Amino acid sequence: MDMMNQAPAVQSSTHTVFNQPPPLVDYNVFTQDAALVESVQREGAGWARDRLSNIGAFAGREEVIQWGFDANMYEPVLRTHDRYGHRIDEVVFHPAYHHLMKHAVNWGMHASSWRDDAPGSHVARAAAFYLFAQVEAGHGCPISMTHAAIPVLRKQPGLAQSWLPQLLSLEYDPGLRPASEKQGMLCGMGMTEKQGGSDVRSNTTQAYPEGDGAYLLTGHKWFCSAPMCDLFLVLAQAPAGLSCFLLPRVLPDGTKNRFLIQRLKQKLGNRSNASSEVEFDHAWAMLVGEEGKGVRTIVEMVNFTRLDCVLGTAALMRQAVAQATHHAAYRQTFGHRLLDQPLMQNVLADLAVESEAATILAMRLARACDQAETSEHEQLIKRLGTAIGKYWVTKRGPVHVAEALECLGGNGYVEESILPRLYREAPLNSLWEGSGNVNALDVLRALAREQQAREHFFEELAPACKADSRLDRAVTHLQRQLTDGDALEWRARHLVEQMALVFQGALLVQHGHPAVADTFCATRLAGEWGRAFGTLPAGTDAAAILERSRPRSGQVS
Ligand SMILES: Cc1cc2nc3c(=O)[nH]c(=O)nc-3n(C[C@H](O)[C@H](O)[C@H](O)COP(=O)(O)OP(=O)(O)OC[C@H]3O[C@@H](n4cnc5c(N)ncnc54)[C@H](O)[C@@H]3O)c2cc1C
Repeated sequence: MDMMNQAPAVQSSTHTVFNQPPPLVDYNVFTQDAALVESVQREGAGWARDRLSNIGAFAGREEVIQWGFDANMYEPVLRTHDRYGHRIDEVVFHPAYHHLMKHAVNWGMHASSWRDDAPGSHVARAAAFYLFAQVEAGHGCPISMTHAAIPVLRKQPGLAQSWLPQLLSLEYDPGLRPASEKQGMLCGMGMTEKQGGSDVRSNTTQAYPEGDGAYLLTGHKWFCSAPMCDLFLVLAQAPAGLSCFLLPRVLPDGTKNRFLIQRLKQKLGNRSNASSEVEFDHAWAMLVGEEGKGVRTIVEMVNFTRLDCVLGTAALMRQAVAQATHHAAYRQTFGHRLLDQPLMQNVLADLAVESEAATILAMRLARACDQAETSEHEQLIKRLGTAIGKYWVTKRGPVHVAEALECLGGNGYVEESILPRLYREAPLNSLWEGSGNVNALDVLRALAREQQAREHFFEELAPACKADSRLDRAVTHLQRQLTDGDALEWRARHLVEQMALVFQGALLVQHGHPAVADTFCATRLAGEWGRAFGTLPAGTDAAAILERSRPRSGQVS
């Protein structure tokens, strides 16, 4: 008898799979995020609840989550020339990226703040952006830049007439065609050059006037993300100094502008988003604002993209802690659910508190955008608060995501868990749109230039200080620190960190869940905390914090 061909007597499978959590899919990313739902209501966009719930259900669908994976697995490819050697300067994206873009545009994440004339429209749009950023961050770049460019162009009636209708449109219409043939358009931004990004005044791109507001630009941009956009706001040196220009990729007569994509960057993360190096070879552009006032003109765009950095990081943190608590709810170790192991509860509750603090601050800043035109207080909170939030929330992102990743053990280090992608993405929001130091220095600049900013900031905190003595002490300490004018630049990071913490603390004390607010004040303000996550003091109501934070797979309403 041939022993080799004999059927085995035992079951053929090597092992049975058990003690692995189900994937977190088919859940409502909005309704299961208590901090977000409460913020939307409180900050003036309760009217958008149904729409956000629909977006949340959509963003939690397994198929949509898979688009996020595919868009990053199959990275964009640059095609500089066609087969005959003509320059085409096109970027080819995976269909999953187009699906994400199409739905983001259809939901108005690039424009709804400017389209909806309702109070709270910035808050509603911010929440929508935050929901989609949890599925996939890279496509958020052109969405965010388009949203931020619209208010700049609205101030230029001549340009607005030609380009705004397509930027405000809810149609996603990719491809190189003139505005007259497009249902919808997207706008990017080109400031950074090889010799300097933060120091934009060192730009060397030259702009030669052609008459009637038109210029020809010659130079380069070292980082130009989403180069498949239809339009770009760029900086270049005009005769009267650094100026802002609107540069289309296709000219009104249908010919291709001299916008030459040299190569795409190979990046740490943010892989679905093409980031390019471009050269302008006598590229046609229109002046935006006044010659020599380029920084002042484009800064409005930068302020809005900075808010999206805060929202984007709050979203990364939310997704990271959602994955971590979901995993811990199903995984057994040493005879108990991870979620019931005291030390894991400590880690997860700490991560949840950090995530809620980021969300509540981001949404408060969105309301400041809604009310900035009618209220000096909101205008100053928008100006100062966005720089504070951009510095601090984005600094917390990488360390937060790394800890959440570890909650999944080895599975967290594997791509399919989404956490490696969140981790690679996390440093970017601190880096671009003003890196950490630049933002911290910007807070000092705002305090020095806007006489009332400091007063309004502390006025914002005052009601909460009465309610929590730990917050009150932290605010008093900060006030003393700020009156000390010595070595301000050296101390900028520490000052801004304290400003962010008291701002988050005040919001939580006034509006947050009591257990979250109490834990935040005890740890971040009163120092009952270690240097890593998972060092909350005894007596923390972790059960309440985790109950509110944990999403339930399969719950779509
Ligand atoms: C993925 C990606 C996409 C990007 N997309 C775009 C885009 O679409 N358009 C665009 O215009 N740019 C884009 N950028 C560029 C980005 O905004 C810049 O990289 C960033 O502003 C920093 O500029 P830099 O790289 O020249 O660094 P530098 O300006 O050289 O700064 C280096 C470091 O020095 C610090 N620093 C600078 N000045 C000071 C100071 N006075 N005191 C103390 N510290 C200081 C900075 O905080 C930073 O940490 C992108 C970058 C990345 C990574």
